[in-house]
Amino acid sequence: MEAKLASPYAIDDSDLLIVVDIQNDFCPDGALAVPLGDEVVPIVNRLGKSFRNVVLTQDWHPAGHLSFASTHPGHAPYDTIAMPYGPQVLWPDHCVQGTPGAAFHSGLQIPQAGLVVRKGLDPAIDSYSALYENDRATPTGLTGYLRERGIKRLFLAGLAFDFCVRYSAEDAVREGFAVVVIEDACRGIDVQGSVAATRTSFAALDVACIAARDLAATC
Ligand SMILES: [Zn+2]
Repeated sequence: MEAKLASPYAIDDSDLLIVVDIQNDFCPDGALAVPLGDEVVPIVNRLGKSFRNVVLTQDWHPAGHLSFASTHPGHAPYDTIAMPYGPQVLWPDHCVQGTPGAAFHSGLQIPQAGLVVRKGLDPAIDSYSALYENDRATPTGLTGYLRERGIKRLFLAGLAFDFCVRYSAEDAVREGFAVVVIEDACRGIDVQGSVAATRTSFAALDVACIAARDLAATC
């Protein structure tokens, strides 16, 4: 008799894993280090083996990007300023195009990933989400890719839980995808209560938060 667990998380070809911003600058010793950010690398590598469909995202800013505190004299990193598209947290300079800090963590190993979405390229607008820039209106093009590939459900992992993972999840719900965040494969920054706000948002939007082992049991 086969011991097969009925699980809502059995992965098939309509599922896709989005691996968010596992880049040197978001790992310890990076310019915008997410505490313990590198801990997710082996977890994400294991998760990747369960998915045929994987997208990687990469924060990829021009020098002098408006999300950098250094671009705004008199402001410090983690200040929030008003931009035409809403509040914007200011960050240390990070993930500048072509620099070692913008490269993926060298331990990240998901060779079957079919697409790398680079975001934050426009000097005048930030882009936390993999689907939309921070005006929540300018698309990155990922939604079209997902629809053309017949993807129905998105699993999210990476950095940071309370910014790029959060915004990606929220936009994906808005686009009609089922969304599952693999929480122990994420790490947060927690600026001004942002981790708690993320949990509240996910609960309101029916974004499932699971642990990596919930998937491993089905593979
Ligand atoms: Zn950025």
